Amino acid sequence: MTMGETAPVNGLASVEAEIVRACRDARRERSTVTLVAVSKTFDADAITPVIAAGQRVFGENRVQEAQRKWPELIAAHPGLALHLIGPLQSNKAKEAVALFDAIHSVDRVSLCEALAKEIDRQNRRPSLFVQINTGEEPQKAGVSPSNADDFIARCRDTHGLTISGLMCIPPMDDAPAPHFALTAKIARRNGIKQLSMGMSADFAIAIALGATHIRVGSAIFGTR
Ligand SMILES: *Cc1c(COP(=O)(O)O)cnc(C)c1O
Repeated sequence: MTMGETAPVNGLASVEAEIVRACRDARRERSTVTLVAVSKTFDADAITPVIAAGQRVFGENRVQEAQRKWPELIAAHPGLALHLIGPLQSNKAKEAVALFDAIHSVDRVSLCEALAKEIDRQNRRPSLFVQINTGEEPQKAGVSPSNADDFIARCRDTHGLTISGLMCIPPMDDAPAPHFALTAKIARRNGIKQLSMGMSADFAIAIALGATHIRVGSAIFGTR
């Protein structure tokens, strides 16, 4: 193995050790937390050793980048799951439903419509997460916490979508815990079981607050 290949595998091992520790501290089973290895900007040479080390769930934030990188990797390694963690344009819903097993960034009625149509047409059902803009940051995607209940109801009732989870990205300069707690609270009152929250810097805190999916990039693959 070259240096380039050992680095992400070492990163994966230390992230795994920290997940185990965080689960133990939170009295949770390791199996209740899915590690989504965020491979955006990294190419197949960096990703292949991580697959070889046993990682099966990967995250990308751009549809086009994922379309370039993943079909070949998926064909070569059965059993992989690919999650879209970045914003999705309605006009890319078709490609997204075809390629991804989960979409973490549902946040607009127009996108719900486009997804519902493609899910029907392709008969493929990616898990859907509604993104909550917990910090109410104007530049950030996501539904504001005060609109979350209405939006979730609309996804379900008007568009017939199954909402599996909620996702959040806390503001850069805030302590993440209150944002994770708020996301968990919105999920609870809407009967939603899955929580996509926690990144390289804060996934242990997210696990303590109920995360079922942590999205970890740089701690595995290195700085981008
Ligand atoms: C890039 C990205 C991550 C991973 O961030 P790291 O700090 O590298 O772990 C997680 N979630 C989203 C939405 C991202 O865009």
